[in-house]
Amino acid sequence: MSSEKNILVLNCGSSSLKFAVINSTTAETVISGLAERLGSNKATIAIKYNGEKQVVKLTENNQHLGAIEYLVSDLHTKNLSNSLTAVGHRVVHGGEVFTSSVIVTEHVINEIIRTSGLAPLHNPANLVGIQAAQKSFPTLPQVVVFDTAFHQTMPQHAYMYAIDRDLYTGKGLRRYGFHGTSHYFVSQEAAKHLKQSPAETSVITVHLGNGCSICAIENGQSVDTSMGLTPAEGLVMGTRSGDVDPGLIIYLMNQFNYSGQQIDDLLNKQSGLLGLSKMSNDCRTLEEAVFGDDKKLKEQAKLALDVFCYRVAKYIASYTVALSHLDAIVFTGGIGENSDYIRAQVISQLSILNIKLAKDLNEKARFGAFGEIQAPDSQFKVLVIPTNEEWVIAQDAARLSESK
Ligand code: ADP
Repeated sequence: MSSEKNILVLNCGSSSLKFAVINSTTAETVISGLAERLGSNKATIAIKYNGEKQVVKLTENNQHLGAIEYLVSDLHTKNLSNSLTAVGHRVVHGGEVFTSSVIVTEHVINEIIRTSGLAPLHNPANLVGIQAAQKSFPTLPQVVVFDTAFHQTMPQHAYMYAIDRDLYTGKGLRRYGFHGTSHYFVSQEAAKHLKQSPAETSVITVHLGNGCSICAIENGQSVDTSMGLTPAEGLVMGTRSGDVDPGLIIYLMNQFNYSGQQIDDLLNKQSGLLGLSKMSNDCRTLEEAVFGDDKKLKEQAKLALDVFCYRVAKYIASYTVALSHLDAIVFTGGIGENSDYIRAQVISQLSILNIKLAKDLNEKARFGAFGEIQAPDSQFKVLVIPTNEEWVIAQDAARLSESK
């Protein structure tokens, strides 16, 4: 059994549950895993413990609650539940109410329910996680960490859409931003690396995973980010289009009778790398095709990655507008941490800003490597920093539960 101060971190996605037990003093991950395809007859739960991975099919109770109940009984069996001191939950949308992590109270639950309309796939799943954990661990403090909270420092000119302002005041339609925990974590790590105070560090953080977003951070605070009201705005993603002309939606509705659901599916599930390549939403698969022999696949994969990289470069250049100085550009997320190809394609389009990579350093930065990859004569530093959202959640949960 691992020592005291263990935090159970729960991250309920729309059809998945990521979890970990993290020691908040040593940062050791005691147990971790993923339940996938929840709600379907293919639901599974995979648990990694002591270097071994066990995968179990969730046959009867295959919803989020079933996965959490399985996890809780596994923690009991492994004698780990007694070591828990708090539970930390990732909640996707905190609206304008939550600017930082909080201890769960009835008021907090009601506010998360109130914000659910803005994240209908995620907030209800997050709530299931909170309620299941309250039931299983009634004496433990529950803490929620919001994806949107870090971006609540954005100035109004960055978060307002140029639409009738009554839609903001009356219905909360504005840009909120997501991936806040990741942008916050890597910006703090960047400040540490640069031996500067976070309050004096300005960076552009580029989170490229299945979901992708970019953030301008001025003296430690988010001042702009590419995701908006929902996580669909901004960069090209695995299956999401990112920015499109709003006229495209109207055109599809008026000319081709697309329903709201069809447009939602198109822009969120069938677009991005998958839609452009007609092959895969997975960056690795597309890179393999670009360097493979099949001419047609090569062309399709290359186009998808070209659009992806051009959009990232365009956002990086545009975010220099939001900052008074720039200490570094930081790549993170599965693609940002591992793909030297994508980083090279992005940075090569920023030569007008005199940002350059060192080829050898860029090629070496992968699989958890941390460090600088710019050329000696680059005007700005370029860093690769692995993200760790679970660690931020564990730390916030430990801090808030101790001060309770
Ligand atoms: P999520 O947003 O679901 O947390 P990740 O941050 O794990 O996703 O990122 C997943 C993406 O990272 C996938 O597109 C995957 O292909 C990409 N990726 C992971 N390893 C590599 C690699 N070595 N080279 C290129 N892309 C990679």
